[in-house]
Amino acid sequence: MPQFCSAYSCLNLRTVDVRDRGITFHKFPKDKERRKRWEIALRRDGFTASDSSVLCSEHFKTEDFDKTGQIVRLRADVMPSIFSFPVHLQRVGALLKVH
Ligand SMILES: [Zn+2]
Repeated sequence: MPQFCSAYSCLNLRTVDVRDRGITFHKFPKDKERRKRWEIALRRDGFTASDSSVLCSEHFKTEDFDKTGQIVRLRADVMPSIFSFPVHLQRVGALLKVH
């Protein structure tokens, strides 16, 4: 059973096909504080990461990665920051214009 990326509305599966597109998968931090921050960043109601939960590389900035080794790693203390949220989860001021 391939693993899904945990991000909202992301359909990337941990498969060879996806890996061939240059997408890598990264586990949540073991550190509780950092893991919590990642969970909050995902903005998924009631979501709790498990030890096998993963995020794909599409939610991180290019500079978040350490590509010097054979395995692509995330740098220490990076946060996932790129998501496509549905409108109701986006922080926009546009609502103020609606009467
Ligand atoms: Zn993803």
